[in-house]
Amino acid sequence: MKGKVIIISAPSGCGKSTIIRAIMERGKVDLKFSVSATNRPPREGETDGVNYHFITTEEFQQAIADDRFVEYEEVYPGRYYGTLKSEIVERCERGETVVLDIDVKGGVRVKELFGRDALSIYIMPPSVEELRRRLEGRATDSAEAIDQRVSKAEFELGFAPRYDCRVINDQLDLAVEQTEAIILDFTCPQTFC
Ligand code: 5GP
Repeated sequence: MKGKVIIISAPSGCGKSTIIRAIMERGKVDLKFSVSATNRPPREGETDGVNYHFITTEEFQQAIADDRFVEYEEVYPGRYYGTLKSEIVERCERGETVVLDIDVKGGVRVKELFGRDALSIYIMPPSVEELRRRLEGRATDSAEAIDQRVSKAEFELGFAPRYDCRVINDQLDLAVEQTEAIILDFTCPQTFC
């Protein structure tokens, strides 16, 4: 395969999407974002075809039947997310680098499929306690929802050793620089890009 696949996963609240966006905006490395399909409704500010392909449950089932996914997961009960073959295959054939913002099970699956053509990066919170403090600081979730997110994060952190690299997001700008450097090293290792 000419192109490369960058897989980025993290427990929710660890800044994964912010880090991906920052690296794409800095433009030091040319990344194409793989727009996943999901049956969850768009949030405010999200655009169909940009953040996700927002589709119905029936359309999602049809896409499964048509074998259009590289992988898909029920990330939350009743909420499906899937990486479309069309988002990766042609771009990689053209030699482009595609970045995936994807949950831990999907991340491990894509790494298995693409092997050395893929680099998997796990964004970690400094600690579970710090993650809890951040979630409490956002004040958007009830205490019960925070407990659920923290125990889901503990489960998801169990996947971290299966990733190629781990970056601790203690300070956002540092985490962006470290993640960017890892991607640059993977995509053009022979030069100081
Ligand atoms: P959100 O609904 O907050 O945008 O995303 C929820 C979770 O689904 C995040 O962990 C995100 O990385 C994950 N996700 C997004 N797209 C995909 C995908 O195509 N496949 C899988 N397995 N997970 C995805």
